[in-house]
Amino acid sequence: MDTLKFEIPGKPEYLRMVRLAISSVAATAGFDVEEIDDLKNAVCEACKNVSCHGFSGFSDLYEIELKVDPHYMQVTVRDECDRHTLEKMSQPCRRCPQEGDLGVYVIESLMNQVEFTRDEHGRKVIRMLKEV
Ligand SMILES: [Zn+2]
Repeated sequence: MDTLKFEIPGKPEYLRMVRLAISSVAATAGFDVEEIDDLKNAVCEACKNVSCHGFSGFSDLYEIELKVDPHYMQVTVRDECDRHTLEKMSQPCRRCPQEGDLGVYVIESLMNQVEFTRDEHGRKVIRMLKEV
C-alpha cells in the first residue's frame, strides 16, 4: 500500500490542485474516467466540509491523506488546526448549512464507505473509501 499526504491552507483556490492530484493518483491506481470524476467530486466536497462549512473563515491548514491499495483508495480529510482565520473574500458558499448537507449526500453517493468523525481535539475528520 502507498500512502501520500498533502497539507494545504483551506483557501478554495487550492481545490484545483487537490482535483489534479486526486485525478493523477486515481488514474495510477487503476480507476476509470467516471470513477476518477466521482473521487474528485467526493474529495472536494470533503475538503469544503472540513475547511469551510460551519466556520466564519477557512481552516488555516488541513490534511489530505491517500492510501492506495490494488483494491481500493482510501482518502482521509482532516482539519489540522483550531484556527479558521482565512478570510472568505469571495464567499463561495454563503449558504454553508444547505451546501454542507448536500455535500454529505454527494460524498455518500459517490464512495463505497464514508465515516464522519472528530479527532481527540474535536476537529472534523472525514474518511472515505472507493473500491477499484
Ligand atoms: Zn461552506
